[in-house]
Amino acid sequence: MGFLEEFDQTDLVAAGKELHGFAAELFPICRSITGDGLRRTLALIRERIPLETIEVPTGTIVFDWTVPKEWNVRDAYIKGPDGKRIVDFQQCNLHVVNYSAPVHANMTLSELKPHLFTLPDTPEWIPYRTSYYQENWGFCLSHNQLLTLEDGDYSVSVDSTLEDGHLTYGECYLQGRSTDEVLISCHACHPSLANDNLSGLAVATYLAQYLSGGDLRYSYRFLFIPGTIGAITWLARNRANVDRIRHGLVLTCIGDQRGFHYKKSRCGDAEIDRVVAHVLRHQDEPFEMLEFSPYGYDERQYCSPGFNLPVGCLMRSVWGSFPQYHTSADNLDFIQPLPLARSLRVCVAIVDLLENNRRYCNQNPYCEPQLGRRDLYRSTGGEAISQEISARLWVLNLSDGQHSLLDIAERSGLPFSTICDAADLLSENGLLAVEPRS
Ligand code: ZN
Repeated sequence: MGFLEEFDQTDLVAAGKELHGFAAELFPICRSITGDGLRRTLALIRERIPLETIEVPTGTIVFDWTVPKEWNVRDAYIKGPDGKRIVDFQQCNLHVVNYSAPVHANMTLSELKPHLFTLPDTPEWIPYRTSYYQENWGFCLSHNQLLTLEDGDYSVSVDSTLEDGHLTYGECYLQGRSTDEVLISCHACHPSLANDNLSGLAVATYLAQYLSGGDLRYSYRFLFIPGTIGAITWLARNRANVDRIRHGLVLTCIGDQRGFHYKKSRCGDAEIDRVVAHVLRHQDEPFEMLEFSPYGYDERQYCSPGFNLPVGCLMRSVWGSFPQYHTSADNLDFIQPLPLARSLRVCVAIVDLLENNRRYCNQNPYCEPQLGRRDLYRSTGGEAISQEISARLWVLNLSDGQHSLLDIAERSGLPFSTICDAADLLSENGLLAVEPRS
């Protein structure tokens, strides 16, 4: 039985609950591009799948970049003139600008204000801000709260460390029959943000769990990495092996209720691009295909010209295009169990298609073989020609060693699963043989 057929026997509601539950477990952790929050996140993923954790020292040169200092934060707050905490990292980790340098100081409101960030257009939400590559400190708060602040003496504290340490990332490798690889990559560097990072982490983790132990044609490499610098670091350390990557996907923003968006790889017509398009066309939710652009997530690095890997990006909402993006509203209510489960199903369907997309040779290519004699031409319905028989005829006709099953599915307009079933049946009857180089 194929991966998808097997998956379709699972309870989608229960799967959604598990995915959402895992996101909820990860949600409170204060992640960043380095540090203990990222390590704790990887440790929770490791409870579910075999994960190797790699530590790369600060100062390591990775192409044009340098692995930064490691950042850790224990506490951060602003105390008002009455001595009470009015902005408190313990309440919400978005309150501190990610990568804030340590500071302990007293100051007036006007001295404090350049370090405060709000969203005037959505005044109840707290923004998410970072200062990775420029040493600074700051706090994020709702605009409504900013408006209530009165003149007086404020005390600020960011109890953080910014020191030589490591950049951490996680790698899960599932060995298949071939050393050709499928790369699944997601960023794990955002603090309490659900769609933008946790949805991808949860779906990738459960996809790896689902595939582990299965009989795999390809080997699968799952990366859980800090955005940008993590992908650059991984590529720098694995430059000699990237030729093995045959197909790749970046998974992100995949838990909200909008339809799917797939951003194609840089080459635009890689097998993965066609596979995802086919899968999305044959499922129930709306979807949109997007051309490649050199911004977004880590597909930017995988698709940089020196690598030009066949890696696309699967999303529901597109980064930057939804109001909740990089705010406290990207929370556990914004992602929902069923969309998470349906996203996982789409990923399983993509894997299923990649695993089964082969080329075949018709063993009886001179005129049609007599299907009726083999009981392969019986139509159960009243229609002139059933989808199953149509699929058999298409497969026989196009199996010349050149056309893949996906080519045949696309040309016939039939779902890949129907084409694949036809190829299996014709093979069992000796009418088809796998093209050895496919
Ligand atoms: Zn982000």
